[in-house]
Amino acid sequence: MDIFKCKYLTHENEEIMGFCLNQRCQNVTQYCYLCLNTTHQEHFNDCIRFTKLILFMNECMQVYNQQRKQIEKKLNKFKIIFIDQKKWIRKLIYWKI
Ligand SMILES: [Zn+2]
Ligand SMILES: [Zn+2]
Repeated sequence: MDIFKCKYLTHENEEIMGFCLNQRCQNVTQYCYLCLNTTHQEHFNDCIRFTKLILFMNECMQVYNQQRKQIEKKLNKFKIIFIDQKKWIRKLIYWKI
């Protein structure tokens, strides 16, 4: 597929290896092996390969899931407290205090 080939004229048929995540980089984000050694060479550490990107995304998902579980736990605690409070208020209303 053409979408996975480098767009630079002199890099014909070179496959795209990954993305450049450098915030100051003005070049095309997708890079091939030749781009990595020319246009992105000064910040090649910020160039992430597709395989690494998938691992990185998985790590992000794990962190997200852990945080979501913690928030759910806190919400459940809050719900229990709220239900308890509601019972108390009903009792107070019942006894007209
Ligand atoms: Zn290229
Ligand atoms: Zn770059």
